Amino acid sequence: MNIICFDMEGVFTPEIWVNVAKKTGVSELTRTTRDEPDYDKLMQFRIALLKKHGIRLSDIQEVIGSLELLPGAREFFDWVRSQTQAIIVTDSFVEFAMPFIRKLGNPLVLCHNLVVSSDGMITGYHLRQEDPKRQVVKAFQLLKYTVIAIGDSYNDMGMIQQADHSIFYRPPDNVIRDYPDYPVTRTYDELKKRLSNMIGSE
Ligand SMILES: [Mg+2]
Repeated sequence: MNIICFDMEGVFTPEIWVNVAKKTGVSELTRTTRDEPDYDKLMQFRIALLKKHGIRLSDIQEVIGSLELLPGAREFFDWVRSQTQAIIVTDSFVEFAMPFIRKLGNPLVLCHNLVVSSDGMITGYHLRQEDPKRQVVKAFQLLKYTVIAIGDSYNDMGMIQQADHSIFYRPPDNVIRDYPDYPVTRTYDELKKRLSNMIGSE
């Protein structure tokens, strides 16, 4: 039995923080997991910037509400789910991800959650567990699934290294340079072709 673990941002949706940066004019918020491999460092940097500029959770949710899935994402994901099991494994937060998850047809999502103060400021976050993406893959392998991982960034490397098969989808050049051993795809059609072969060969 196969299960496919998909990253969310950069694979099915635009980068949330990049769009918050655009909307708020706080350009330092464009830094993402694509640039900073240390997730906690990145989050502490973001939380400090939000505080400095008085940006609340509701401001970010408003930006998220205005964003659509990447073109073709829903059709591609519907195809995947007609072929095999698929879930979303994201380092985003339940407070951010749900509008996108609804737009993807309500798949299972494994993500983190935010700590929010009474005045609506984001003051921290809770990781669901340490090394979360790798642990998801390990858990499904314990259940005797063959796991396929799809991601685009440094924060996906745990699941990409742990999975039985892994494919990058539109990774930036620095990720390809640092991890040259994985196949790279750039369109949903390319990804569909590779997945068809993997699922078909089971
Ligand atoms: Mg991503």
